[in-house]
Amino acid sequence: MDLAKKVLQGDVLAAARLIRNLEDEVEGAEEELDALYVNTGRAQIVGITGAPGVGKSTLLGCLIGAFRRKGMKVGVVAVDPSSPFSGGAILGDRVRMQAYGVDKEVFIRSLASRGWKGGLSRATVNTIHVMDAMGKDIVLVEAVGSGQADIDIARISDSAVLVLNPGAGDEVQMMKAGILEAADIFVINKSDVAGADRLKHDLEVMLAMSARKATETAWQPPVVMAQAVCEKGTDEVAEAALKHKEYLDASGDLQRRRRERARTELFWALENYVKNHIDNMEHGHLAQMVDNLARRKANPRSVILEIISQMSSGGRDGLFAHRTAKDA
Ligand code: GDP
Repeated sequence: MDLAKKVLQGDVLAAARLIRNLEDEVEGAEEELDALYVNTGRAQIVGITGAPGVGKSTLLGCLIGAFRRKGMKVGVVAVDPSSPFSGGAILGDRVRMQAYGVDKEVFIRSLASRGWKGGLSRATVNTIHVMDAMGKDIVLVEAVGSGQADIDIARISDSAVLVLNPGAGDEVQMMKAGILEAADIFVINKSDVAGADRLKHDLEVMLAMSARKATETAWQPPVVMAQAVCEKGTDEVAEAALKHKEYLDASGDLQRRRRERARTELFWALENYVKNHIDNMEHGHLAQMVDNLARRKANPRSVILEIISQMSSGGRDGLFAHRTAKDA
């Protein structure tokens, strides 16, 4: 548990190594994460979503600065499903974020598409946990998303920020994807572009009509106008995120959300383990099962029961056997 210990002390190199080991499924990495889990749950997780090109990275750069000026320690997880790199991809020309490369209280990791299947990969969740455990006050998660990916980000965030642009026709999409209900803060970026006021108005009307609980105490998602490229309105976005956290703490919504998140994570992890198990099953054994199904010598339920019993027996094809098998 060497890495875990160092991560808890805020060691950047240890955190980077653990994240990489988790991505590469190195033996022992998950156990390090298991040990860290009790020390997570302190950081505020802020998800930032929106269509490609709306200005998420630019906004993110400004937000890092805004939170740093408040003395907060910042973690950033950039999830890029289109990146051709494997795990640990670099951030390319995101100059603004690179400006924080020398600030040791800012820890930035970029994850590529591996494991991403229309939603957040487990790698994202694991990376968030590591940053949380290393003592970051706030973890910003940026995803290029639309539809399901945006909602997934919202599900694992304490505060979900949706970035929109004027004239991009986002309104209709939002309604379809249900993101209107999922976002806590709306940012209309590129407010220098024509149509920004109109979008703000339309959005506020839609929010007023939405199925959100319209009680006096419920959170009313603000619509913030911004021009991230010249840092206008971005401090307001940071303020809105902190205000939202205060609301979560005061209302008890934080506990409710974190319970939902724990549930989501559990299901993702379970799905992941079952898939891994099947991928790593002895090929002949799997082929035999499929063959038996095709010949009607077995039925799907009996095969499922057999797989589950193998997984829990911890034998050769057991639940965690894939890592040792791979590394052997
Ligand atoms: P992302 O794909 O959502 O991360 O978007 P980026 O942050 O990479 O920004 C996409 C483009 O929009 C870049 O060329 C930015 O310079 C530009 N941009 C960002 N914010 C603004 C803004 O407030 N106004 C205008 N006009 N352009 C902006």
